[in-house]
Amino acid sequence: MVQAPIVQFALLDKLLALGRANSLWPMTFGLACCAIEMMAAGAARFDLARFGAEVFRPSPRQCDVMIVAGTISKKMAPAVKTLYDQMPEPKWVIAMGNCAISGGPFKFDGQYGIVEGADQFLDVDIYIPGCPPRPEALLEGIMELEEKITGFRRKSWPRVEAG
Ligand code: SF4
Repeated sequence: MVQAPIVQFALLDKLLALGRANSLWPMTFGLACCAIEMMAAGAARFDLARFGAEVFRPSPRQCDVMIVAGTISKKMAPAVKTLYDQMPEPKWVIAMGNCAISGGPFKFDGQYGIVEGADQFLDVDIYIPGCPPRPEALLEGIMELEEKITGFRRKSWPRVEAG
C-alpha cells in the first residue's frame, strides 16, 4: 500500500500553475505569413499584456511558450528543434496556422520542401487553425493554453461556442 506523503504540495502546485499561466513568455521568432498576425496580436490594439503574455523574448532560455507561426521548411526544422530544446521546462508549444498544423496550402503529393506539421517533431499543446488565424484566434489559443496549465477557464474570457 502506497502511503500518502506527509507533506503535500497540491496547493503550491496550483499557485505555481496560476503564476505560469498568467505570465507566459513567448519566443520572438516567426517562420512565414502567420507571424505577421502574431506580431499584430502583440500590438496595443489587442493588448496581450492584460494576460501577462506580452513579453516576447529573443532568447529561448528566457521563454516558456514557442508559437510556431508559419511554414516549417525542412531546412528550418532543425533550427526550430534546437530552439525548443534550449527552452527550460516547463514549456509549451502553440501551432499557429494551417502550415504549422499540417503543412497548409503547401501540402500536396510530391512536395519535398516542408515539414507537414510542427507535431512531426515537437509536442504541440494547442492548435490554432486558419490561413492565417486572426490575432483574436491567437488570444483564444493563449486562453486555451492557460486552461491547460491551470485546469480552469479564465472567468473574464468565457468560451464562445460555435453556432
Ligand atoms: S497558414 Fe497561410 S498565412 Fe499561415 S504561414 Fe501558411 S500560408 Fe502563410
